[in-house]
Amino acid sequence: MSTVVWFRSDLRADDNSALAEAARDGGRVTGLFLLTPAQWRAHDWGARKQLFVWRHVLALRERLAALGIPLWVRLVPDFASAAAAVAEFAREQSATAVYANAEYAVNEVARDRLVAEALRAQGTAWRRLHDFTVLAPGTVRTQQGAPFKVFSPFRRAWLAQVRGEPVDCLAAPAARAAVEPPPLPDWEPPVATLDPDWWPIGEVAAHARLVDFVERRLARYHEDRDVPALDGTSRLSPYLAIGALSVRRCIEAALAHNHGEWDSGSRGAQTWLSELVWREFYTHILAEFPRVSRARPFRPETDAIAWREAGVDFTRWCEGRTGYPLVDAAMRQLAATGWMHNRLRMVTAMFLTKYLLVDWRHGERFFCEQLVDVELAANNGGWQWSASTGTDAAPYFRVLSPVRQAERFDAEGAFVRRWLPQLAALPAKALLQPGHPALLAAGYPEPMVELKGARERVLLAFRGLAP
Ligand SMILES: Cc1cc2nc3c(=O)[nH]c(=O)nc-3n(C[C@H](O)[C@H](O)[C@H](O)COP(=O)(O)OP(=O)(O)OC[C@H]3O[C@@H](n4cnc5c(N)ncnc54)[C@H](O)[C@@H]3O)c2cc1C
Repeated sequence: MSTVVWFRSDLRADDNSALAEAARDGGRVTGLFLLTPAQWRAHDWGARKQLFVWRHVLALRERLAALGIPLWVRLVPDFASAAAAVAEFAREQSATAVYANAEYAVNEVARDRLVAEALRAQGTAWRRLHDFTVLAPGTVRTQQGAPFKVFSPFRRAWLAQVRGEPVDCLAAPAARAAVEPPPLPDWEPPVATLDPDWWPIGEVAAHARLVDFVERRLARYHEDRDVPALDGTSRLSPYLAIGALSVRRCIEAALAHNHGEWDSGSRGAQTWLSELVWREFYTHILAEFPRVSRARPFRPETDAIAWREAGVDFTRWCEGRTGYPLVDAAMRQLAATGWMHNRLRMVTAMFLTKYLLVDWRHGERFFCEQLVDVELAANNGGWQWSASTGTDAAPYFRVLSPVRQAERFDAEGAFVRRWLPQLAALPAKALLQPGHPALLAAGYPEPMVELKGARERVLLAFRGLAP
């Protein structure tokens, strides 16, 4: 038996369903990764995300070579070329089967359908395994058999299925005689800055970060997670997005810390486990409702909203020059690191969609270009939630005020000072009052929009939409 494992968003040897299954009977296993730069650009992936993926492919290639599994990297422009490339590779390797872990966005599903056809036509078996989430999309349904559209009942149903069952992680394949890593195609990743302190490379580094987080920060997560100046969250999202770490390993570690309890015991662990269920929820939504992959709102009636032209307001938001220090500091954090704190993703997304009344799709795309952790299901889910166009969305009249949020979560201005160093010497009082004379004297811009009037404007835009 000779099997090809086609790696996509599962760039690890540990706990990888397709790889473990392929290696199970001890037959020959060969890895394949398709570099698809034109597709990445079409999907709005920024340079940082592309570089992060590329470096993880290189790390995986080394790791697999040490285990005796060669990982070949083939350069094709896009998904349209995938079927021919995978089929040809399988023939070259005299493979009897190709295994891959499923991806759920529409283009990925369409690509896999063509791959399956091409393989069938030449007599190569094709297996698509579920791996990205604990429970496969389509397996968590209401009693009527419909997909859930709201998080809390989804979480209850999800927990009812998972609780009591061990969340089994699969070991990396047993090492065979080491091989030389195969040659690489002639391709240069785009130039980008990836701070190695923020984003160390490889599944071993990802796992070390998980262990460190669980040991040192998980117990306080429920309190610290909302304070952007603290290092209170795991920052594992980029690794989970590309599969350098499995969600099962995260759950295993959190449950071990919490004596196997899901919704009792440590509040930090319970809250963190719940966030991982949000990841499951949005992945299921993506798979069950293909329209969200197609830039359509989850709630179709919100298509009627008269969004404003993006224009200069959008540019000011992108560049962090809104005149609201918390918003601008968050946008600077994004530009500098490729990551933004979750609370500030909500604050900045609501600022754009609610106070500026700019279409969420502009913001979603900008985040996509900037984030190192970008992942369609979570990014789309987060944007549609913030814009009140999505599943489980914030009600349209719920608008997080950047002033109130700063008072609650950055009262001393520690976060703002870190990312807007020109304001570092100002007292917290000034940082909390956009338009404060001390801010203007420091050359910081006037607030670009008046919140009260802007709130009225968005309420008017949403009111009267058919339910
Ligand atoms: C507008 C907006 C855009 C977002 N875009 C993305 C994105 O492109 N990629 C992404 O992974 N997350 C996205 N999120 C969700 C969330 O902000 C990040 O997952 C989180 O900030 C990552 O930091 P962390 O790893 O320290 O998270 P932790 O707090 O440590 O949480 C652990 C993990 O749970 C998952 N998770 C946490 N919150 C959410 C959530 N609300 N939805 C889905 N999964 C979640 C992530 O995989 C995360 O790594 C977005 C949220 C919003 C509001």
